[in-house]
Amino acid sequence: MTYKIIQDFIKLGSKCRPGKKNPKKWIVIHETGNSSPKAGAKNHSNYIKNLAIQNKTYLSWHYSVDDKEIYQHIPDDEISWNAGDGQKIGGGNMAGISIEICVNSGSDFKEALNNAAYLTGYLLLKHNLDISAVKQHFDFSGKNCPQKIRESNLWNEFLKKCEYYKKAIKL
Ligand SMILES: [Zn+2]
Repeated sequence: MTYKIIQDFIKLGSKCRPGKKNPKKWIVIHETGNSSPKAGAKNHSNYIKNLAIQNKTYLSWHYSVDDKEIYQHIPDDEISWNAGDGQKIGGGNMAGISIEICVNSGSDFKEALNNAAYLTGYLLLKHNLDISAVKQHFDFSGKNCPQKIRESNLWNEFLKKCEYYKKAIKL
């Protein structure tokens, strides 16, 4: 269980991080879908930093979480291109804080889920959001993401953990 969020922001003004204001209506949960043993939070942090420097792609998210670490790539009050719903007002891109949960082989997925629930609970508390603000990528674009959570029916358990942490955390 990690309680530390490592902030390592990507380049501002890039396609990945345009700096547009985020009204913070949703927490959008994803999984990376990358089972390579090295595909943990730190590697995703390096990956998205490079994406922003290359400045070719409209793709980004706020946090990467694995079984040991939480990295933040974009401040909560800016948008990210995570949800596949374009510039829809109030949608997952324009109004979501996005979390990628790593599924790299060799890491403890249950522990990664636990860290993601901690982070989600913390964000709910910090931004005064109800548990109903926690959404799946699926809810915005129909993509089967977060895939393991969906296919293993772990969503309700995940939400319960988010609520637990929201109550337990002191800001
Ligand atoms: Zn996703």
